[in-house]
Amino acid sequence: MIDFPAAVVEAADFYDKHYTGVWNVLLEPYMRLMLGNAERPRHCRFCGKNEPAVTFRSKAHALPAAFGNMELFSNYECDACNHLFGDGIENQLGNWTKPMRTLSRVSGRNGVPTIKKPGPGKGWRLEYSNTGFRVKEYENEPSFEVDEKARRVCFELHRDTYTPVAALKGLVKIGLTLIPDVETQHFRETYDWIRNTDHSRNFVAEFPVFRTFIPGPMPNDLVVLMLMRRRAETDTVPYAFLVFAYGNEVLQVFLPSIFKDKCINGKPLQLPAFPIPSAPNPARYGKPIMTVERLTGREPVRGEKVPAAFGFDSIVWMKP
Ligand SMILES: [Zn+2]
Repeated sequence: MIDFPAAVVEAADFYDKHYTGVWNVLLEPYMRLMLGNAERPRHCRFCGKNEPAVTFRSKAHALPAAFGNMELFSNYECDACNHLFGDGIENQLGNWTKPMRTLSRVSGRNGVPTIKKPGPGKGWRLEYSNTGFRVKEYENEPSFEVDEKARRVCFELHRDTYTPVAALKGLVKIGLTLIPDVETQHFRETYDWIRNTDHSRNFVAEFPVFRTFIPGPMPNDLVVLMLMRRRAETDTVPYAFLVFAYGNEVLQVFLPSIFKDKCINGKPLQLPAFPIPSAPNPARYGKPIMTVERLTGREPVRGEKVPAAFGFDSIVWMKP
């Protein structure tokens, strides 16, 4: 029997009492899943239009390809919405998650993303190949520090420019793609909000994203997606959540429904993050770390630094 920490047991009880899982899937490499039926004429759940007013020629990713070679598509996203999201909020989510995808070795369309010094000219870079991570730096411009005693290499990575609320819309979009058809009626305003390219529009007052970082070696080619809906007998918690786990990161995002969340309007949200039952060897790598991300900023964030650390077993000195 595994002894779970008290906080994990408490959070598990909380979710069991207030929520029911409506959809969950473990995505493995190259598995192919198509959501929604292919019957014509098709209907786009994002803009609400039908064929032939809109077309459905491109394959619409339910999960952006940046998160791995998983083939999860939907039949209910029209080409116009697909392009709108691909060039906009999915790109923004991609920028926000890039350092974590690199550190987790998550391979997207063009492999594991490389992170390099911003701007023109040469500079440090962190890249991953089959043989491991490779860091390049220049003598007069150190990019990492080696702590031999603690056996850690510490970096300050760089995040590409992103607009927080646009990255948040990218996360919410994944949830709104996965929810069953019968639920879409409760999210009409939320669909309009994610389609709106004017990110200055206010939507809901509280919009928590729980982020859990799981230290240590985690599989880099699996994704877990879970949708939770409030139980019918409760009205004290948000209506729906998406839990999205990839690499070393678990993101839990609130899927606001103007109609279904009326009952919690004006009340402060107090709820634990969805529990992470296990982490690889916490004694060696540390315990999962939970933070609440406030992805509500409406202005582009430029040059954000992302601290990161790798542990190592030994150092091998090589001749230059
Ligand atoms: Zn559409």
